[in-house]
Amino acid sequence: MTYRGRFAPSPTGQLHFGSLVAAVGSWLHARHAGGQWLVRMEDIDPPREVAGSAAGILAALPAFGLVADAPPLFQSQRIAAYDAAFGQLRAAGQLFPCWCSRSELAAGGGLHRNGQCIAATNPDRSPAWRLRVPDIEVDFDDALRGPQRENLRGSVGDFVIRRAEGFYSYQLACVVDDAFQGVTEVVRGSDLLDSTARQIWLQRCLGLPTPAYRHLPLVMGADGRKLSKSEQASPVDPANPLPALRQALTFLSVPIPAAATDVRDLLAHALANFDPALLPHCSGHSAV
Ligand code: GLU
Repeated sequence: MTYRGRFAPSPTGQLHFGSLVAAVGSWLHARHAGGQWLVRMEDIDPPREVAGSAAGILAALPAFGLVADAPPLFQSQRIAAYDAAFGQLRAAGQLFPCWCSRSELAAGGGLHRNGQCIAATNPDRSPAWRLRVPDIEVDFDDALRGPQRENLRGSVGDFVIRRAEGFYSYQLACVVDDAFQGVTEVVRGSDLLDSTARQIWLQRCLGLPTPAYRHLPLVMGADGRKLSKSEQASPVDPANPLPALRQALTFLSVPIPAAATDVRDLLAHALANFDPALLPHCSGHSAV
């Protein structure tokens, strides 16, 4: 089977160093395996979207030498596929409508675990839709972080598949599209390690294949905290890509030559010397 990897940014800001590491890491694994590298714009959360961000990220990637093998997939154009997956889960009795407010949820311990809503049905308000999560362990082996086990009922309970505003959850859209794009290995930051059990469970519910998972160390700020787009982490500069690209490769423990003067040389050298076994196995470290 052809290796297929992907980079799946959310358009909540410009490309920053942490997302560049995820992009470079997924690109290196795909190219090293002789496979394909795809880009998916996860633009299904309009309230969190920052105008110009999707176009900015898509323009930045080739400036860093990261060229996808197909045009980007926009999740905003995939709603019919999410509707179909939602319909499949609903028809199988795996979803229930939920009218709980945050305060009602908090009063109930913060999680739904009974496969039903504790609030009163409210015909005047659209409900969120949650997946009934059974009391079972989901096991998977992360290529970098080792064996993982999560009891979803204990950790997240009956989780949201479609929000009351009508937006599909990241978990559903991600699973539907990883299968649609034929992704064989998901390479992304360790901040998403705790979404993986939910995604594997959804794959099982929908009869979709489970790809391999490899969660890269997270880039921490000098203060030991994770960098994120929503915290306005400083964007990388596509007009001057070499310094950030060098830093991203160094962060991933990939040997780089001092002499490379353009991104193509640098990536070609990095790829020729890339050894997935040398990647750091920790959950995160500082870039400096
Ligand atoms: N869109 C998510 C993010 O930018 C990543 C999704 C994924 O790689 O599964 O955090």
